[in-house]
Amino acid sequence: MRPRIFSGVQPTGSLHIGNYLGAIKNWVKLQHDYESIFCIVDLHAITLYQEPAELRRKIEQTAALFLACGIDPRESSVMVQSMVPCHAELSWLLTCVTPVGWLERMTQYKDKAAKLESVGAGLLSYPVLMAADILLYQANCVPVGDDQSQHMELTRDIAQRFNALYGDTFVVPETKLPAVGARVMGLDDPEKKMSKSAEGANHAIALLDPPALIKKKLMKATTDSNPAVDYETMGPGVQNLLSIFQAFSGWDDAAMKQHFAGMRYGDLKKSVVEAVVAGIEPIQQRYAEITADPAYLRGVLDESAARVMPIAASTLDLVKSRMGVYTAR
Ligand code: ATP
Ligand code: MG
Repeated sequence: MRPRIFSGVQPTGSLHIGNYLGAIKNWVKLQHDYESIFCIVDLHAITLYQEPAELRRKIEQTAALFLACGIDPRESSVMVQSMVPCHAELSWLLTCVTPVGWLERMTQYKDKAAKLESVGAGLLSYPVLMAADILLYQANCVPVGDDQSQHMELTRDIAQRFNALYGDTFVVPETKLPAVGARVMGLDDPEKKMSKSAEGANHAIALLDPPALIKKKLMKATTDSNPAVDYETMGPGVQNLLSIFQAFSGWDDAAMKQHFAGMRYGDLKKSVVEAVVAGIEPIQQRYAEITADPAYLRGVLDESAARVMPIAASTLDLVKSRMGVYTAR
């Protein structure tokens, strides 16, 4: 049996190159060596208000983009979290073994809560639901971007705490980050990671942006006060552009340095535009084909949910019996 991976994306907005380079590109590579479950995590999305019709549309758009990026639905499951009720049920059971202090320490919670007048309880418990997503499938490995490292540590802590309290139940999962592109930064502010939910017209490059818009955004990207690439003194904006190029091109460090050292920023940006457009164009073509046939996409989501359901149900049964809650015989 192949080891299993699980990972997800929130349908909170337009998927961007950070989601692709940090997570989805890695999934495409790993899906042949692992039994793979890729999830559109809509129950996570609603920890912040989502306009219902728009959420519905984003769920299907996110699923279509997974396939367009190269996830093969004959090999991997592409599922919507809310179609498998076990996620929410396990989340409650795990909430009861998770200290509030562990959740209040999460930097994503602190960042997102700081921007709100009233903080929903769901935003605080978000990482418990994430732990439930992963532990429900006894995943061995979780390919994510670097911003999820802290939540992954928490997932491991919750699994270990449960195992210590109730006996060995969960596989304790490993985190898998990509070598390049694990943390793509905002083009307008290279101190902040690129995010779907961040504001600013030039913040992110969406996977569905037309080439002319990609060029416009990249040419405006924040750099620093040097005129050209200096590997000793470069700031985070230039570093970000170089790593975006490297992640799309696959060049090694030596080739990068030889080509880009001393290059003026205008020329660097043109190279990045070319690499990003070349990487994204085939994704956009496949996306157009996939969305032309909505019945096909719904079929993939239905079949995947049916395929993963028995795995989820069997873990949930085990957890309930370990905890002693009353279940049907
Ligand atoms: P939101 O702003 O709604 O939280 P997001 O852009 O952070 O959106 P998520 O759905 O939270 O996207 O994360 C999906 C996956 O993409 C995760 O594996 C996450 O680690 C990865 N990811 C998100 N942003 C980046 C980024 N800037 N660089 C690399 N990976 C990223
Ligand atoms: Mg996020």
